Amino acid sequence: MQGKLNVQTENIFPVIKKFLYSDHEIFLRELISNAVDATQKLKTLSTRGDFKGELGDLTIDVKIDSKKKTLTVSDRGIGMTADEVEKYINQIAFSGVTDFMEKYKDSHEPLIGHFGLGFYSAFMVSDKVEIFTKSWKDEPAQHWSCEGNPEFTMEEDTKHTDRGTDIVLHIADDCKEFLEEGTILQLLKKYCRFMPVAIRFGEESVWVDSETDCDKDGKPKRVEKKQPRIINDPEPAWKKSPSSLTDEDYKKFYHELFPMNFEEPLFQIHLNVDYPFNLTGILYFPKVRKTIDPNRNKIQLYCNQVFVTDQVEGVVPDYLMLLHGVLDSPDIPLNVSRSYLQSDGNVKKISQHISKKVADKLEEMSKKKEGEEKSAFEEKWDDIKIFVQYGMLTDEKFCERAMKFYLLKGVDGSYYTLDSYREKIKALQTDKDKTVCYLYASDAEEEHAYIEKAKAKGYDVLLMDSPLESHFINLLEQKLEKSRFVRVDSDTVEKLIPHDDAIPEKLSKEEKEKLQPIIEGEVDKQKFTVQLESLEESDAPMQVTQSEFMRRYREMAQTSGGGMGFYGELPESYNLVVNINHPLISRVLNETDTEKQKELVHQLTDLALLANGLLKGEALSKFLKRSVEMI
Ligand code: ADP
Repeated sequence: MQGKLNVQTENIFPVIKKFLYSDHEIFLRELISNAVDATQKLKTLSTRGDFKGELGDLTIDVKIDSKKKTLTVSDRGIGMTADEVEKYINQIAFSGVTDFMEKYKDSHEPLIGHFGLGFYSAFMVSDKVEIFTKSWKDEPAQHWSCEGNPEFTMEEDTKHTDRGTDIVLHIADDCKEFLEEGTILQLLKKYCRFMPVAIRFGEESVWVDSETDCDKDGKPKRVEKKQPRIINDPEPAWKKSPSSLTDEDYKKFYHELFPMNFEEPLFQIHLNVDYPFNLTGILYFPKVRKTIDPNRNKIQLYCNQVFVTDQVEGVVPDYLMLLHGVLDSPDIPLNVSRSYLQSDGNVKKISQHISKKVADKLEEMSKKKEGEEKSAFEEKWDDIKIFVQYGMLTDEKFCERAMKFYLLKGVDGSYYTLDSYREKIKALQTDKDKTVCYLYASDAEEEHAYIEKAKAKGYDVLLMDSPLESHFINLLEQKLEKSRFVRVDSDTVEKLIPHDDAIPEKLSKEEKEKLQPIIEGEVDKQKFTVQLESLEESDAPMQVTQSEFMRRYREMAQTSGGGMGFYGELPESYNLVVNINHPLISRVLNETDTEKQKELVHQLTDLALLANGLLKGEALSKFLKRSVEMI
């Protein structure tokens, strides 16, 4: 029989070829998916009792013949009768292609997955495609052939007696890479790694005990043996029931998925939903310590165990892309653009479900078990804190949930929930305006002197050192009722949490007016603002502080890029706080020898800078020399 495919555009084949140039490789996924489907259908017929014959070895074979320049995909599935080829290949599949091309033509955005082109995607890489097929029904085998134009031939094939289908691609000259073993192996590993029917391609070496040769101790020698290579794992962990898997199984599967990731994941969530949508998968929590991993292709999206993409923007909320793992859902539309995906009802539900499951898991972990000193959550907190912060900053719903389990960490290493911490500090750290002041340090070493001063007053100090902290503190200030966060070095300890009890001043107004220019004359006025303050006599004579507001906004501008540019441009500026009640400050004021007075001011400012780690280089050397001379 000869025939003509019903086409409006004569040249649909060159179009197929050109259109999807960058995605040529998906032909293999499409053909093997068809082979898997045909095999699964046969298994179903067999369990239902419709097919009574032997199933036999159902492994799908992929073979390259470099002399004939062909690539063949063979299955032992249901096969097709002549009528079925006519119906499924000549009519339905072909109209599928025409639809797909119509859709694709107007799309300027890349479509995810490109499912839908199906069998005809073979023409993206072939000059000619042949089908040899024999149905499970007692009907003659068929040979269909088409050379990339609308004409095809179909005839009975007397040579073929085995059930199943061989698709033979005569690879085009400009697609020679698909005749290379390495290329095909890589594609099979990418798209077919977890397909549900075993796929055989080429051979691999294994080391086994020799049956004939022994070494001198009488032990069998190890010899290399070639065996057919199965490229996939037909039963991946995410398809199994969570109760049948141990923690070790999950870890093993993690390394199977990401052979190049050597670090162990912290814990995982196994997703398993079948109503109102179908979703399975495993999401692993990696350690997120210092930065938000820019390498975002760590979640693989599958559709019934067929790899679709590792670009999951739009499918899961942004913060969840920090997780690693697999999602498998036939309910995510795959031949649509990303912007459409985001508005799709199912995708929204799936994404919300995942987000909820993640919050559930974290909440469950945060509950201390009986007799435990620390919850599992506290143990892992330092490694997942950035993840939780990022989630809270970018996802309103997650933020609401996380307010219950978010942990604050004290500089001494203890953890508190937001509620318990507020209870702890409320009494001493509420200022005169009834605002609760949370004191924090970004670096316990560098801010050590300030932390000690705050502790001496009975205050508690938090350690807040993630790269997202300044944004996060802003968020907390909005979420927590009447509260303010202040870094320990942003003011003198008296003023960090202003109470009503002012300390009496030892200097008169005139004396202060005289003192101000003496000190200003000796410091870099671009960088330092001199502030005279009435502090305890026992406090340091001079201190350097940095305004909370300015510092935090500068940091936020630096980590958010754009939009807050103005703050990022601000020069670093500090306050030089002078304690007018300190005896050394009185000495400065009363010193009549101006040289000596200058030297004293220098020495005092340098000491304040030194406490802050700001005295460096030449200034530091001068300070050391001056100190020795003064002693
Ligand atoms: P889809 O797989 O999306 O239905 P295809 O164009 O890939 O579209 O295939 C069209 C139809 O051809 C399939 O639905 C199936 O009925 C039939 N078919 C394709 N490949 C095979 C095969 N290897 N064995 C049996 N039937 C097949």
